[in-house]
Amino acid sequence: MLPYQNLQEAEEAHGRALSVAEKLWFRYSAHKPDYVLHYHNIIFLMLFYTLAPLPYVFIGLGWFKNMDKYKIQPKVKDSFSNMFKCYKNVMGSFLLVVGPLQVISYPTIQWIGIRTSLPLPSLWEVFLQIMVYFIIEDFGNYWIHRLLHSKWGYNKIHRIHHEYAAPIGLAAPYAHWVEILILGIPAFLAPALVPGHIVTYWLWFILRQMEAIETHSGYNFPWSPSKYIPFYGGAEYHDYHHYVGEQSQSNFASVFTYCDYIYGTDKGYRYRKQALEKLAKLRHEDEGRREDEPYHIPAEDRKSQ
Ligand SMILES: [Zn+2]
Ligand SMILES: [Zn+2]
Repeated sequence: MLPYQNLQEAEEAHGRALSVAEKLWFRYSAHKPDYVLHYHNIIFLMLFYTLAPLPYVFIGLGWFKNMDKYKIQPKVKDSFSNMFKCYKNVMGSFLLVVGPLQVISYPTIQWIGIRTSLPLPSLWEVFLQIMVYFIIEDFGNYWIHRLLHSKWGYNKIHRIHHEYAAPIGLAAPYAHWVEILILGIPAFLAPALVPGHIVTYWLWFILRQMEAIETHSGYNFPWSPSKYIPFYGGAEYHDYHHYVGEQSQSNFASVFTYCDYIYGTDKGYRYRKQALEKLAKLRHEDEGRREDEPYHIPAEDRKSQ
């Protein structure tokens, strides 16, 4: 709720004309209590979880055959019923676990100092804060995920997230409710350490969720963000972690690759990647040979005429 009765009052208080975005924000939020703005987060969470995986759902159901070649584990076929089961399960966790947590966490959000007031943050401020959030969350998530791969943590909690040995976008938040709660800690810790505007706070959770959906998509497209963002793991990186499953000692990081590199938990992945690249190169050379004058056959191998 903003402490101004109308736009004119807000402009007088700031000593300048408000920007278009600020006017929109004023119209939207001026008369809404702050807790209502805070509860928007759960609506965004469910909305983006429903919309963002849709392209992957359609590709997975075989609607765009020309995309099949980008599937990381091509032998695994996705069925609609399996996808819908996953969707129902995740929506249930959002409603029963994340929703109530959002409601009771409102005083904490107030205490942290997430503001709803004017002025709005600059785009540069939003960008920097979200980068810092990604780095903080990635570090916390890395260590929690490693702990979840202990024998007890895996059997009691993390096993559920690994039911998808070939992940799909919808399975990004598919996990035991305890895992959803504990992985929420670093996600909330980031804005708690570097509090900003509620718009940044919303955007942070939306972007983090979209990133998790992309990372679990099971597709490595030529336009995947991992090809353009330095140190970003992406779908291929996390897919390997799911592919190995319980025994996995590789690729624990959720967003970037540097934690696994620093703590030496990417060795298996790197070794396999190099081996596959070598194999692909050999196959390529082999095909090249077959096309023009195939293998050179040594004289010793030729039958005498
Ligand atoms: Zn894992
Ligand atoms: Zn995963």
